[in-house]
Amino acid sequence: MNAPLNRRGACPTLRAPMQTGDGLLARLYPVDGGLTPAQLIGLAKAAARHGNGLLEITQRGSLQVRGLTEATTVLFAAEVDGLGIRVRDGVPVETGPLAGLDPEEIADPRPLAEAIRGGIAKAGLAGRLGPKVAVVVDGGGSSRLEGLKADVRVEAWRDDGGVRWCVEVPSAERVVQSEPLDQPLALTTALAVLGTIAELGNQARATDLTLAGTASILATPRPAIQQPPPSFPSRREIGQSSCDRRSLGYVSSTADLTPRGELPISPLEGEMAGRTEGGAGVKELSDGRFAAFCALPFGSVEADTLAVYVEAAAKAGATELRLAPNRTLIAFCPSRESATKATDVAGATGFIVDPADPRSRIVACSGSPACASGHIPARALAASIAAQMLADGAFELHISGCAKRCAAPSHRGLTLLGSGDGVSLIFDGGGTPDASPLAHVAKERVEAAFGRVAGLVSAERRQGETGIDTLRRIGQQRLSAAFAEGT
Ligand code: SF4
Repeated sequence: MNAPLNRRGACPTLRAPMQTGDGLLARLYPVDGGLTPAQLIGLAKAAARHGNGLLEITQRGSLQVRGLTEATTVLFAAEVDGLGIRVRDGVPVETGPLAGLDPEEIADPRPLAEAIRGGIAKAGLAGRLGPKVAVVVDGGGSSRLEGLKADVRVEAWRDDGGVRWCVEVPSAERVVQSEPLDQPLALTTALAVLGTIAELGNQARATDLTLAGTASILATPRPAIQQPPPSFPSRREIGQSSCDRRSLGYVSSTADLTPRGELPISPLEGEMAGRTEGGAGVKELSDGRFAAFCALPFGSVEADTLAVYVEAAAKAGATELRLAPNRTLIAFCPSRESATKATDVAGATGFIVDPADPRSRIVACSGSPACASGHIPARALAASIAAQMLADGAFELHISGCAKRCAAPSHRGLTLLGSGDGVSLIFDGGGTPDASPLAHVAKERVEAAFGRVAGLVSAERRQGETGIDTLRRIGQQRLSAAFAEGT
């Protein structure tokens, strides 16, 4: 029996993979969060048997298996079932990888996330919401989910009255945030937003909601509220809270709106793997265990390499592994000593264990030869030019094997784009996917060309300036001249 391909616009899943240049891509997210070493090794071996042996951890912390066929997808899914790995389906309601275990979190987000999942099921919303609608419930702490795009984001907030939750929605015009709400009211408010999105049709997203409509939902008191909220602190005080990290105004009425302006809304990057910015180091958890963090360079790993790492980490004492946002893998260990050993093993395997690793600032798709559409070996090129990235993280680079730009369709910054006759430099300061190439060089000259651009940015960088601002100030003409010099 062949697997059904995913419908147009839907995200790939374990049983409905997506066609890519190197075959079918299946994406899975373990329901229970963690995997035993035996499960992850079994999964890697199954990926090697039924796919092309490449696995990826995505920006959202899902696992992708590449190079499957319609026939092997079914076999791969059966092996995943056989390993006892339950995978998520339906509307994703995501919590951080350390939810309930992070001593610094404001609140354990899992009960509220579970209640939202239950509410979605009870209201029959799963079949009516679009395939890309997502909810994030963020308890705060060290593993916050700040960078993940969500149609509804619920964030923990603490004041003298205890823990409450802010509901945040990126409407058509700007991000709107509720007052801090008691958990029952946060639940009904989040479900009300999802219900309103569903009413717009099964391709709708929160960004299709009007500002006034969204504000009205977020400001409307609902029966679930247990008691009137106490008086709220001033904006200055709110600035200390999790909810107000973007200096958003509360919406206590539709008139209480602040301009969207330059607010940094959640990034548009989707699930495609390619970028690495995961955490590193060892962290003590509230249950006495220790978490050892590492990240996959460019989000990708060979199945054999993954299996070797997991075996060694298990030997060092790791009993559980979790996939985490930003291409991160976390090994849960019984002691600091075993977690340190697991980190050392990760470093020796070639994984990123230092946040300053320049590979963490490059997004690269599979490229050639893994992807049939690839004109350049994007990840190999990324590895070879990583050392040219500036030490202070001045800018981020996207390397794409072809014009589809799978890994970062809305990347802001510099992009190297492969084509049949060379590599183009693109600068996009605003995340518009159709930004035009500035200059073009032959493939064998791209490393030197990029080195000149990196050198120019390094020389021009001003203290306190963002990388995008430096690139804008340099301007397209000089960037173009540096890249194409001598061609
Ligand atoms: S962007 Fe990269 S992964 Fe996507 S189709 Fe092109 S070469 Fe393949």
